[in-house]
Amino acid sequence: MLHALTYIMPAAIIALVLLFLKVKHRARFLCAQCDVSFSWIDSLCKHAELVHGSAPAPQTRILILGSGFAGMEALKRLQSRFQSGPQVDITLVSRNNFFLFTPMLHEVASGMIDTRHIAAPVRALCQRARFYESEVESVDLEGKRVVITHAVGREPSGGCRPEQLSSHALRYDYLVLALGNRTRFSGDGVEKNAFALKDLYDTILLRNHVISMLEQADQMPSSPGVRRELMTFVVAGGGFSGVEVVGELNDFVRDAIKGLYHNIDPGDVQVVLVSSADRLLPDLDRDLGEFALRKLLEKGVKVMLNTRVERHGRQAGACKRGCPAMQDPCLDCRRDP
Ligand SMILES: Cc1cc2nc3c(=O)[nH]c(=O)nc-3n(C[C@H](O)[C@H](O)[C@H](O)COP(=O)(O)OP(=O)(O)OC[C@H]3O[C@@H](n4cnc5c(N)ncnc54)[C@H](O)[C@@H]3O)c2cc1C
Repeated sequence: MLHALTYIMPAAIIALVLLFLKVKHRARFLCAQCDVSFSWIDSLCKHAELVHGSAPAPQTRILILGSGFAGMEALKRLQSRFQSGPQVDITLVSRNNFFLFTPMLHEVASGMIDTRHIAAPVRALCQRARFYESEVESVDLEGKRVVITHAVGREPSGGCRPEQLSSHALRYDYLVLALGNRTRFSGDGVEKNAFALKDLYDTILLRNHVISMLEQADQMPSSPGVRRELMTFVVAGGGFSGVEVVGELNDFVRDAIKGLYHNIDPGDVQVVLVSSADRLLPDLDRDLGEFALRKLLEKGVKVMLNTRVERHGRQAGACKRGCPAMQDPCLDCRRDP
């Protein structure tokens, strides 16, 4: 008995140390054929036998469309649930190969933080799943089939368009539809002229636009009317996004003028928040809405409540959730009675 223990004890200690190291360093075992990995070697072996063996068993295919909040949460839960389920095949498709933390988009637009601070690579989170960076073209719910398209090469003229597109059909047993929503613009001409603030590209466009307005206004020392026009920014929507964007935009423009654009008079700047509601942040307690209003007014933002954007004629910018931000006084607002 004692003799047996002298062998078993060291083996048990070594096994425990290896287990500890594996859990601590999250070691994974990759199936080179499927490009998915398992946390345990025996799960990988079972998978290899069942899926790639001489008599492969059918797999249950789960297809997730979209890598936003909903898609990534579904992925996280499914991966954890089927970590040791070798017969489950998980695939994620999204047009972006990164997960975007949207609540901080406005801070990227103002340059407070960098784009990479709010974008996490999807592939790093896909251990048990395969990922395709592709556009979802169509979903056939009856036939349980999704067609996706991805770019191949770059157009010879050096532009950023792909040289060609390639399409594939993916079959599924279970589908998770998490493709988000579309920005809804109300008001005539707003969609055409407005900037949206929904993804990373929008933040870059908006930021470049604001900087361009500052550069233009700085070169107009003898045209106060034009300067004022260039320095007018309107954000429509008094919910979370609108309030955050207008605060950030206002600080950005006013700080830039103070430090860098000495030909622009701070009095030229007009940052306006238009909201159809009778108060700001209607989803929160009235006190908080009033606090936000006070703070914005103190910082020089003009707030128009009970007012809708009806029309817009020239350049315009917009933030998501139907809250257009416009640079241009050629804006038609209607005050609700
Ligand atoms: C500026 C801003 C601030 C916000 N702040 C907050 C906040 O503070 N708190 C809060 O709770 N919510 C906030 N939201 C809302 C929040 O971002 C959304 O509720 C959330 O993103 C919805 O998640 P989703 O997964 O449904 O869609 P999304 O996050 O939009 O994800 C959709 C995914 O589908 C992909 N996709 C779409 N169409 C296709 C296609 N045809 N082919 C391939 N891929 C496609 C997209 O690339 C994306 O990966 C904010 C939104 C914005 C824009």
